[in-house]
Amino acid sequence: MATDLEIVCVPALSDNYVWLIHDPVSNETVVVDPSEADPVIAAVGERGWTISQIWNTHWHPDHTGGNAAIKALGAKVSGPSAEAERIPTLDYGLREGDSVRIGNHVARVIETPGHTAGHIVFHMVDDALLFSGDTLFAMGCGRLFEGNAPQMFGNMQRLAALPDETVVYCAHEYTASNGRYAAVAEPDNAGITARMRDVDAQRALGRPTVPTTIALERATNPFLRASSAQQLAERRAEKDAFRG
Ligand code: ZN
Ligand code: FE
Repeated sequence: MATDLEIVCVPALSDNYVWLIHDPVSNETVVVDPSEADPVIAAVGERGWTISQIWNTHWHPDHTGGNAAIKALGAKVSGPSAEAERIPTLDYGLREGDSVRIGNHVARVIETPGHTAGHIVFHMVDDALLFSGDTLFAMGCGRLFEGNAPQMFGNMQRLAALPDETVVYCAHEYTASNGRYAAVAEPDNAGITARMRDVDAQRALGRPTVPTTIALERATNPFLRASSAQQLAERRAEKDAFRG
C-alpha cells in the first residue's frame, strides 16, 4: 500500500537527515527533527510549502536546533513529554500510544528509551512509514547515552515486529560505518555483503542510503537481529569501539 504523502530528505549538519512530510490533499507539511532551520526553510520555500508542525524524536540539539526559528514562522512542536524540560520549544508532549496527524494521516507514538531516556518514534501505520530518529538506523541502532541494552533490545523487538514493507526514515547517514561493523558481527550473512556493495556505490555518488525497510533491517541489522539483550549489549560495546 503506497502512501500519497511526499517525503523529502533535507541533509543538515555533517550527517543528519531532516525529513519533510507533505500531504498534497491538506497541503500540510511536517518537519521531523530539524537540526537547523536554514536548509529546511529553503527546501520548503522552493516547493511553495509552509511548515505547520515539527515532530521531534528526542532532545539532542542535532534534532531540535531548528525548532525555535521554524516555530517562529508558525509551526507547533510535538515531541516526547518525558523530555519537555530539555525541549523548551515544545507545545505538545507525547507518550506511548498518543498520535499526531498530518491531514488525514495518523502517526502513532512508540516510546523507545535507550539513546535518550524519552526517545520516541513515529509510526504511520496506514502509510507504512516509520520515522525512527536515533533509535533504529540502517544496519545500526542508537548509542546508549541515557538507557541500557535491555531497553534497546525491547525497542528492536518491537520495531522488528512492524510490517516488512514499512519504510524507515532514520536521522543520520551512518550506513557505511554500521555496515562495516555488521559484516564483522555476522561474517556469514550474505545479505550484509550484498547490501554493502549497494551502500558503497550510493555513497560514491554522494547519495543517501536511506530510507530503508523493516524487511531489509531484519535481514542485515545486527542490532535488530540480536537474539538477547546480552548479545545486543556485546554488539553495542563492540560497535562503540569499532574503527573499521
Ligand atoms: Zn541523538
Ligand atoms: Fe542525532
